[in-house]
Amino acid sequence: MQFQNHLSFARELDQQDPLGKYRDEFHFPKVNNRPVIYFTGNSLGLQPKRSQVFIDEIMTDWKDLAVEGHFYADKPWWDYHERLAKPLAGVVGAKPEEITVMNTLTINLHLMMVSFYRPDTKRYKILVEEKAFPSDQYMINSQVKFHGFDPTSAVIELKKRKGEHYWRTEDILAKIEEAGEELALVLIGGVNYYNGQVFDMEKITSVAQAKGAIVGWDLAHAVGNVFLDLHRWGVDFAAWCSYKYMNSGPGNASGVFVHERHLGKTDIPRFEGWWGTKKENRFLMKPEFEPMDTADAWQISNAPILSLAPYLASLELFEEVGMEALIEKRKLITAYLEYILEEVSREVKGNFEIITPADRGCQLSVLLHGEGRSLFEYLMKEGVIVDWREPNVIRLAPAPFYCSFEDMYRFGQILKNGIIS
Ligand SMILES: *Cc1c(COP(=O)(O)O)cnc(C)c1O
Repeated sequence: MQFQNHLSFARELDQQDPLGKYRDEFHFPKVNNRPVIYFTGNSLGLQPKRSQVFIDEIMTDWKDLAVEGHFYADKPWWDYHERLAKPLAGVVGAKPEEITVMNTLTINLHLMMVSFYRPDTKRYKILVEEKAFPSDQYMINSQVKFHGFDPTSAVIELKKRKGEHYWRTEDILAKIEEAGEELALVLIGGVNYYNGQVFDMEKITSVAQAKGAIVGWDLAHAVGNVFLDLHRWGVDFAAWCSYKYMNSGPGNASGVFVHERHLGKTDIPRFEGWWGTKKENRFLMKPEFEPMDTADAWQISNAPILSLAPYLASLELFEEVGMEALIEKRKLITAYLEYILEEVSREVKGNFEIITPADRGCQLSVLLHGEGRSLFEYLMKEGVIVDWREPNVIRLAPAPFYCSFEDMYRFGQILKNGIIS
Protein backbone atom coordinates (compact mmCIF):
# COMPACT_ATOMS: atom_id res chain seq x y z
CA MET A 1 0.00 0.00 0.00
CA GLN A 2 1.21 3.49 -0.86
CA PHE A 3 0.92 5.47 2.37
CA GLN A 4 0.26 9.20 2.55
CA ASN A 5 1.04 11.65 5.30
CA HIS A 6 -2.40 13.25 5.25
CA LEU A 7 -5.23 13.41 7.73
CA SER A 8 -7.77 12.37 5.10
CA PHE A 9 -5.69 9.32 4.18
CA ALA A 10 -5.36 8.27 7.84
CA ARG A 11 -9.12 8.68 8.29
CA GLU A 12 -9.72 6.58 5.22
CA LEU A 13 -7.64 3.78 6.76
CA ASP A 14 -9.65 4.07 9.97
CA GLN A 15 -12.87 3.82 8.03
CA GLN A 16 -11.72 0.61 6.36
CA ASP A 17 -10.39 -0.84 9.62
CA PRO A 18 -12.53 -3.82 10.70
CA LEU A 19 -11.22 -3.30 14.26
CA GLY A 20 -11.99 0.41 14.27
CA LYS A 21 -15.12 -0.02 16.36
CA TYR A 22 -13.16 -1.61 19.21
CA ARG A 23 -11.54 1.70 20.06
CA ASP A 24 -14.80 2.56 21.78
CA GLU A 25 -14.47 -0.52 24.02
CA PHE A 26 -11.63 1.20 25.91
CA HIS A 27 -11.23 4.13 28.29
CA PHE A 28 -8.67 6.70 27.15
CA PRO A 29 -7.01 9.10 29.58
CA LYS A 30 -7.36 12.73 28.51
CA VAL A 31 -4.76 15.46 28.17
CA ASN A 32 -5.88 18.98 27.21
CA ASN A 33 -9.41 17.57 27.11
CA ARG A 34 -8.57 15.21 24.30
CA PRO A 35 -8.04 11.42 24.38
CA VAL A 36 -4.32 10.75 24.45
CA ILE A 37 -2.35 9.07 21.67
CA TYR A 38 -1.47 5.97 23.62
CA PHE A 39 1.80 4.27 22.72
CA THR A 40 2.38 2.40 25.98
CA GLY A 41 0.11 -0.59 25.58
CA ASN A 42 3.36 -2.56 25.83
CA SER A 43 3.63 -1.39 29.42
CA LEU A 44 0.05 -1.11 30.64
CA GLY A 45 -2.87 -1.72 28.30
CA LEU A 46 -5.89 0.59 28.42
CA GLN A 47 -8.91 -0.36 30.50
CA PRO A 48 -11.64 -2.18 28.57
CA LYS A 49 -15.00 -0.66 29.52
CA ARG A 50 -16.45 -4.09 30.14
CA SER A 51 -13.90 -4.95 32.84
CA GLN A 52 -15.95 -2.88 35.31
CA VAL A 53 -18.98 -5.07 34.57
CA PHE A 54 -17.00 -8.23 35.29
CA ILE A 55 -15.64 -6.84 38.54
CA ASP A 56 -19.08 -5.62 39.64
CA GLU A 57 -20.42 -9.10 39.08
CA ILE A 58 -17.96 -10.52 41.58
CA MET A 59 -18.63 -7.76 44.11
CA THR A 60 -22.36 -8.42 43.84
CA ASP A 61 -21.95 -12.17 44.19
CA TRP A 62 -19.73 -11.66 47.20
CA LYS A 63 -22.27 -9.27 48.74
CA ASP A 64 -25.29 -11.50 48.06
CA LEU A 65 -23.83 -14.98 48.38
CA ALA A 66 -20.70 -14.62 50.51
CA VAL A 67 -19.03 -18.01 50.86
CA GLU A 68 -21.73 -19.65 48.74
CA GLY A 69 -20.29 -17.78 45.77
CA HIS A 70 -17.58 -20.43 45.52
CA PHE A 71 -20.16 -22.86 44.18
CA TYR A 72 -23.37 -20.99 43.48
CA ALA A 73 -22.34 -17.77 41.75
CA ASP A 74 -23.26 -17.59 38.06
CA LYS A 75 -19.58 -18.01 37.43
CA PRO A 76 -18.57 -20.08 40.47
CA TRP A 77 -15.28 -19.01 42.00
CA TRP A 78 -13.80 -22.41 42.76
CA ASP A 79 -13.10 -23.08 39.08
CA TYR A 80 -13.37 -19.50 37.77
CA HIS A 81 -9.77 -19.60 36.49
CA GLU A 82 -10.68 -22.41 34.11
CA ARG A 83 -12.76 -19.94 32.10
CA LEU A 84 -9.59 -18.17 31.06
CA ALA A 85 -7.84 -21.23 29.67
CA LYS A 86 -9.76 -21.59 26.42
CA PRO A 87 -9.54 -18.01 25.18
CA LEU A 88 -5.89 -17.85 26.25
CA ALA A 89 -5.16 -21.08 24.40
CA GLY A 90 -6.36 -19.30 21.27
CA VAL A 91 -4.05 -16.35 21.91
CA VAL A 92 -0.88 -18.42 22.45
CA GLY A 93 -1.57 -21.43 20.22
CA ALA A 94 -2.06 -24.08 22.90
CA LYS A 95 -4.52 -26.67 24.11
CA PRO A 96 -6.66 -25.34 26.97
CA GLU A 97 -5.28 -27.99 29.32
CA GLU A 98 -1.79 -26.61 28.74
CA ILE A 99 -2.79 -23.23 30.20
CA THR A 100 -3.18 -21.99 33.72
CA VAL A 101 -3.59 -18.51 35.19
CA MET A 102 -2.08 -17.69 38.56
CA ASN A 103 0.25 -15.40 40.52
CA THR A 104 2.35 -12.87 38.64
CA LEU A 105 4.98 -13.30 35.97
CA THR A 106 8.28 -13.38 37.85
CA ILE A 107 6.77 -15.69 40.47
CA ASN A 108 5.58 -18.04 37.75
CA LEU A 109 8.98 -18.05 36.07
CA HIS A 110 10.42 -19.10 39.43
CA LEU A 111 7.83 -21.87 39.70
CA MET A 112 8.63 -23.03 36.17
CA MET A 113 12.35 -23.05 37.03
CA VAL A 114 11.61 -25.26 40.03
CA SER A 115 10.20 -27.84 37.65
CA PHE A 116 12.33 -27.34 34.58
CA TYR A 117 15.74 -26.13 35.71
CA ARG A 118 17.28 -29.07 37.50
CA PRO A 119 21.00 -28.62 36.89
CA ASP A 120 23.69 -31.19 37.57
CA THR A 121 27.45 -30.75 37.35
CA LYS A 122 27.40 -31.66 33.68
CA ARG A 123 24.32 -29.86 32.41
CA TYR A 124 23.74 -26.58 34.22
CA LYS A 125 23.98 -23.67 31.80
CA ILE A 126 21.18 -21.25 30.90
CA LEU A 127 21.10 -19.29 27.67
CA VAL A 128 19.52 -15.82 27.95
CA GLU A 129 19.58 -12.64 25.90
CA GLU A 130 22.00 -9.95 27.08
CA LYS A 131 20.37 -7.12 28.98
CA ALA A 132 17.23 -9.16 29.54
CA PHE A 133 14.44 -7.46 31.48
CA PRO A 134 15.95 -6.89 34.94
CA SER A 135 13.39 -8.99 36.80
CA ASP A 136 14.26 -11.94 34.55
CA GLN A 137 17.96 -11.44 35.24
CA TYR A 138 17.40 -11.38 39.01
CA MET A 139 15.15 -14.42 38.77
CA ILE A 140 17.64 -16.46 36.73
CA ASN A 141 20.70 -15.48 38.76
CA SER A 142 18.95 -16.30 42.02
CA GLN A 143 17.83 -19.68 40.70
CA VAL A 144 21.36 -20.49 39.60
CA LYS A 145 22.73 -19.54 43.01
CA PHE A 146 19.94 -21.45 44.74
CA HIS A 147 21.27 -24.59 43.05
CA GLY A 148 24.82 -23.79 44.19
CA PHE A 149 26.15 -22.63 40.83
CA ASP A 150 27.87 -19.41 39.88
CA PRO A 151 25.95 -17.16 37.47
CA THR A 152 29.18 -15.97 35.84
CA SER A 153 29.82 -19.47 34.50
CA ALA A 154 26.26 -20.82 34.37
CA VAL A 155 24.49 -17.97 32.58
CA ILE A 156 25.41 -17.53 28.91
CA GLU A 157 24.38 -14.15 27.53
CA LEU A 158 23.54 -13.82 23.85
CA LYS A 159 25.31 -10.76 22.50
CA LYS A 160 24.42 -8.58 19.58
CA ARG A 161 27.17 -7.94 17.05
CA LYS A 162 29.17 -4.79 17.49
CA GLY A 163 27.36 -1.82 16.00
CA GLU A 164 24.10 -3.78 15.57
CA HIS A 165 20.89 -3.29 17.50
CA TYR A 166 19.39 -6.76 17.16
CA TRP A 167 20.27 -10.43 17.68
CA ARG A 168 20.95 -12.69 14.72
CA THR A 169 19.32 -16.12 14.78
CA GLU A 170 22.48 -17.72 13.36
CA ASP A 171 24.47 -16.36 16.32
CA ILE A 172 21.93 -17.77 18.77
CA LEU A 173 22.04 -21.19 17.13
CA ALA A 174 25.84 -21.09 17.19
CA LYS A 175 25.77 -20.39 20.94
CA ILE A 176 23.44 -23.34 21.48
CA GLU A 177 25.83 -25.52 19.49
CA GLU A 178 28.77 -24.26 21.50
CA ALA A 179 27.12 -24.92 24.87
CA GLY A 180 26.17 -28.41 23.68
CA GLU A 181 25.60 -30.93 26.46
CA GLU A 182 26.17 -28.32 29.14
CA LEU A 183 23.04 -26.46 28.12
CA ALA A 184 20.22 -27.12 30.60
CA LEU A 185 17.80 -24.37 29.65
CA VAL A 186 17.10 -21.67 27.10
CA LEU A 187 14.97 -18.85 28.52
CA ILE A 188 14.54 -15.77 26.36
CA GLY A 189 11.93 -13.03 26.04
CA GLY A 190 9.98 -14.02 22.91
CA VAL A 191 9.73 -10.33 22.03
CA ASN A 192 12.54 -8.26 23.50
CA TYR A 193 11.18 -5.45 25.65
CA TYR A 194 13.83 -2.95 24.60
CA ASN A 195 14.23 -3.20 20.84
CA GLY A 196 10.93 -4.95 20.07
CA GLN A 197 12.61 -7.83 18.23
CA VAL A 198 10.66 -11.07 17.78
CA PHE A 199 12.91 -14.11 18.18
CA ASP A 200 12.55 -17.13 15.93
CA MET A 201 10.91 -19.11 18.71
CA GLU A 202 10.14 -22.18 16.63
CA LYS A 203 13.67 -22.60 15.31
CA ILE A 204 15.46 -21.83 18.58
CA THR A 205 13.15 -24.22 20.44
CA SER A 206 13.79 -27.14 18.13
CA VAL A 207 17.56 -26.64 17.86
CA ALA A 208 18.02 -26.32 21.64
CA GLN A 209 15.79 -29.30 22.36
CA ALA A 210 17.80 -31.39 19.91
CA LYS A 211 20.76 -30.68 22.20
CA GLY A 212 18.78 -32.02 25.14
CA ALA A 213 17.93 -28.64 26.65
CA ILE A 214 14.58 -27.46 27.98
CA VAL A 215 13.17 -24.35 26.31
CA GLY A 216 11.00 -21.74 27.99
CA TRP A 217 9.85 -18.33 26.77
CA ASP A 218 8.98 -15.19 28.66
CA LEU A 219 6.11 -13.87 26.58
CA ALA A 220 5.46 -10.61 28.45
CA HIS A 221 5.82 -8.56 25.26
CA ALA A 222 4.69 -11.28 22.86
CA VAL A 223 1.28 -12.34 24.13
CA GLY A 224 -1.56 -10.53 22.39
CA ASN A 225 0.99 -8.96 20.06
CA VAL A 226 2.55 -11.59 17.79
CA PHE A 227 1.70 -14.98 16.35
CA LEU A 228 2.32 -17.78 18.83
CA ASP A 229 1.95 -21.51 18.28
CA LEU A 230 3.42 -22.86 21.49
CA HIS A 231 2.00 -26.36 21.31
CA ARG A 232 3.03 -27.03 17.75
CA TRP A 233 6.46 -25.46 18.29
CA GLY A 234 6.94 -27.94 21.14
CA VAL A 235 7.91 -25.25 23.65
CA ASP A 236 8.38 -26.78 27.11
CA PHE A 237 6.95 -23.90 29.10
CA ALA A 238 6.12 -20.21 28.81
CA ALA A 239 4.77 -17.48 31.05
CA TRP A 240 3.49 -13.95 30.53
CA CYS A 241 1.93 -11.07 32.37
CA SER A 242 -1.50 -9.89 31.33
CA TYR A 243 -1.38 -6.16 31.93
CA LYS A 244 0.58 -5.21 28.79
CA TYR A 245 -1.06 -6.07 25.46
CA MET A 246 -3.65 -8.20 27.27
CA ASN A 247 -5.25 -5.15 28.95
CA SER A 248 -6.14 -6.94 32.20
CA GLY A 249 -5.18 -4.21 34.69
CA PRO A 250 -2.11 -3.14 36.64
CA GLY A 251 -0.05 -5.93 38.18
CA ASN A 252 -2.63 -8.50 37.19
CA ALA A 253 -2.36 -12.27 37.03
CA SER A 254 0.08 -14.15 34.84
CA GLY A 255 -0.59 -16.92 32.37
CA VAL A 256 1.45 -20.09 32.13
CA PHE A 257 1.83 -22.66 29.39
CA VAL A 258 3.18 -26.13 30.11
CA HIS A 259 3.45 -28.47 27.14
CA GLU A 260 1.22 -31.52 27.37
CA ARG A 261 4.24 -33.83 27.38
CA HIS A 262 4.90 -32.60 30.94
CA LEU A 263 1.30 -32.92 32.17
CA GLY A 264 -0.15 -35.63 34.37
CA LYS A 265 3.24 -36.54 35.86
CA THR A 266 3.82 -37.22 39.52
CA ASP A 267 7.61 -37.38 39.26
CA ILE A 268 8.06 -33.74 38.26
CA PRO A 269 9.38 -31.55 41.10
CA ARG A 270 6.96 -28.77 41.83
CA PHE A 271 6.02 -26.42 44.64
CA GLU A 272 2.57 -27.67 45.47
CA GLY A 273 -0.61 -26.37 47.08
CA TRP A 274 -4.24 -27.39 47.36
CA TRP A 275 -5.40 -25.70 44.15
CA GLY A 276 -3.15 -28.01 42.14
CA THR A 277 -4.83 -31.15 43.40
CA LYS A 278 -7.52 -33.08 41.56
CA LYS A 279 -10.68 -31.03 41.63
CA GLU A 280 -12.89 -33.98 42.54
CA ASN A 281 -10.94 -34.66 45.72
CA ARG A 282 -9.87 -31.15 46.65
CA PHE A 283 -12.37 -30.70 49.43
CA LEU A 284 -11.83 -34.15 50.89
CA MET A 285 -8.74 -32.52 52.41
CA LYS A 286 -6.66 -35.66 51.97
CA PRO A 287 -2.98 -35.62 52.92
CA GLU A 288 -1.80 -36.88 49.49
CA PHE A 289 -1.24 -34.46 46.63
CA GLU A 290 -2.88 -35.77 43.47
CA PRO A 291 -1.93 -33.38 40.67
CA MET A 292 -4.50 -32.13 38.19
CA ASP A 293 -3.93 -33.57 34.71
CA THR A 294 -3.67 -30.05 33.35
CA ALA A 295 -1.31 -27.12 33.84
CA ASP A 296 -3.52 -26.31 36.84
CA ALA A 297 -1.31 -28.81 38.71
CA TRP A 298 1.04 -25.82 39.17
CA GLN A 299 -1.63 -23.78 40.93
CA ILE A 300 -0.85 -23.32 44.58
CA SER A 301 -3.47 -21.08 46.15
CA ASN A 302 -7.12 -20.51 45.44
CA ALA A 303 -7.46 -17.98 42.66
CA PRO A 304 -7.72 -14.18 43.16
CA ILE A 305 -11.16 -13.81 41.62
CA LEU A 306 -11.22 -10.01 41.67
CA SER A 307 -8.08 -10.02 39.51
CA LEU A 308 -9.25 -12.70 37.18
CA ALA A 309 -12.52 -10.90 36.45
CA PRO A 310 -11.01 -8.04 34.38
CA TYR A 311 -8.63 -10.52 32.74
CA LEU A 312 -11.63 -12.58 31.68
CA ALA A 313 -13.34 -9.43 30.37
CA SER A 314 -10.31 -8.67 28.24
CA LEU A 315 -10.09 -12.24 26.98
CA GLU A 316 -13.68 -12.00 25.85
CA LEU A 317 -12.55 -9.18 23.55
CA PHE A 318 -9.60 -11.21 22.29
CA GLU A 319 -11.85 -14.15 21.57
CA GLU A 320 -14.28 -11.90 19.72
CA VAL A 321 -11.63 -10.32 17.51
CA GLY A 322 -9.15 -13.19 17.14
CA MET A 323 -5.38 -12.94 16.87
CA GLU A 324 -5.43 -13.15 13.10
CA ALA A 325 -7.34 -9.89 12.67
CA LEU A 326 -5.29 -8.21 15.38
CA ILE A 327 -2.04 -9.22 13.72
CA GLU A 328 -3.25 -8.01 10.37
CA LYS A 329 -4.07 -4.56 11.74
CA ARG A 330 -0.88 -4.55 13.79
CA LYS A 331 1.22 -4.98 10.67
CA LEU A 332 -0.57 -2.18 8.86
CA ILE A 333 -0.61 0.35 11.69
CA THR A 334 3.02 -0.31 12.63
CA ALA A 335 4.07 0.08 9.01
CA TYR A 336 2.11 3.33 8.85
CA LEU A 337 3.81 4.59 12.02
CA GLU A 338 7.19 3.68 10.54
CA TYR A 339 6.29 5.59 7.38
CA ILE A 340 5.21 8.63 9.41
CA LEU A 341 8.49 8.56 11.35
CA GLU A 342 10.44 8.41 8.10
CA GLU A 343 8.42 11.30 6.66
CA VAL A 344 9.04 13.44 9.74
CA SER A 345 12.70 12.54 9.65
CA ARG A 346 12.91 13.59 6.00
CA GLU A 347 10.97 16.84 6.43
CA VAL A 348 12.77 18.17 9.47
CA LYS A 349 16.01 16.21 9.26
CA GLY A 350 15.12 14.40 12.47
CA ASN A 351 18.18 12.95 14.08
CA PHE A 352 16.79 9.56 15.10
CA GLU A 353 16.86 5.95 14.05
CA ILE A 354 14.44 3.03 14.40
CA ILE A 355 16.40 0.21 16.05
CA THR A 356 13.62 -2.39 15.85
CA PRO A 357 14.43 -5.05 13.23
CA ALA A 358 12.03 -6.33 10.56
CA ASP A 359 11.01 -9.27 12.80
CA ARG A 360 8.80 -7.21 15.05
CA GLY A 361 5.46 -6.89 16.75
CA CYS A 362 3.82 -3.52 17.16
CA GLN A 363 6.63 -1.82 19.04
CA LEU A 364 9.06 0.54 17.32
CA SER A 365 12.01 1.61 19.44
CA VAL A 366 13.43 4.93 18.34
CA LEU A 367 16.99 5.84 19.22
CA LEU A 368 17.36 9.60 19.51
CA HIS A 369 20.78 10.83 18.48
CA GLY A 370 20.43 14.53 19.10
CA GLU A 371 17.19 15.09 20.99
CA GLY A 372 17.02 13.88 24.51
CA ARG A 373 14.61 13.71 27.36
CA SER A 374 13.23 17.14 26.45
CA LEU A 375 11.53 15.66 23.38
CA PHE A 376 10.02 12.93 25.53
CA GLU A 377 8.70 15.50 27.98
CA TYR A 378 7.30 17.61 25.16
CA LEU A 379 5.42 14.61 23.73
CA MET A 380 3.91 13.75 27.10
CA LYS A 381 2.77 17.34 27.57
CA GLU A 382 1.12 17.22 24.15
CA GLY A 383 -0.85 14.11 25.08
CA VAL A 384 1.36 11.54 23.38
CA ILE A 385 2.00 8.83 25.95
CA VAL A 386 5.30 7.14 25.14
CA ASP A 387 7.94 5.63 27.33
CA TRP A 388 11.52 6.43 27.84
CA ARG A 389 14.33 3.92 28.25
CA GLU A 390 17.86 4.90 29.15
CA PRO A 391 20.09 6.02 27.61
CA ASN A 392 18.11 7.58 24.75
CA VAL A 393 15.31 5.39 23.47
CA ILE A 394 11.63 6.13 23.07
CA ARG A 395 9.38 3.12 22.63
CA LEU A 396 6.22 3.48 20.54
CA ALA A 397 3.71 0.65 20.58
CA PRO A 398 0.53 1.32 18.60
CA ALA A 399 -1.62 -1.46 20.11
CA PRO A 400 -3.96 -2.49 17.29
CA PHE A 401 -6.94 -3.01 19.59
CA TYR A 402 -7.44 0.68 20.27
CA CYS A 403 -4.95 2.85 18.37
CA SER A 404 -6.15 4.55 15.21
CA PHE A 405 -4.39 5.52 12.01
CA GLU A 406 -5.39 9.10 12.73
CA ASP A 407 -3.41 8.81 15.99
CA MET A 408 -0.33 7.98 13.91
CA TYR A 409 -0.85 10.94 11.64
CA ARG A 410 -1.43 13.34 14.54
CA PHE A 411 1.61 11.98 16.31
CA GLY A 412 3.71 12.80 13.25
CA GLN A 413 2.51 16.42 13.29
CA ILE A 414 3.18 16.79 17.01
CA LEU A 415 6.62 15.22 16.66
CA LYS A 416 7.53 17.49 13.77
CA ASN A 417 6.56 20.61 15.70
CA GLY A 418 8.57 19.39 18.68
CA ILE A 419 11.69 18.93 16.60
CA ILE A 420 11.38 22.27 14.78
CA SER A 421 10.77 24.34 17.91
C1 LIG B 1 6.87 -6.69 32.14
C2 LIG B 1 7.88 -7.75 32.29
C3 LIG B 1 8.06 -8.41 33.51
C4 LIG B 1 7.27 -8.00 34.73
O1 LIG B 1 7.27 -8.97 35.70
P1 LIG B 1 6.21 -8.96 36.91
O2 LIG B 1 6.58 -10.15 37.68
O3 LIG B 1 4.84 -9.01 36.30
O4 LIG B 1 6.40 -7.69 37.67
C5 LIG B 1 8.99 -9.43 33.57
N1 LIG B 1 9.72 -9.79 32.47
C6 LIG B 1 9.57 -9.16 31.29
C7 LIG B 1 10.40 -9.58 30.11
C8 LIG B 1 8.66 -8.13 31.16
O5 LIG B 1 8.53 -7.49 30.00
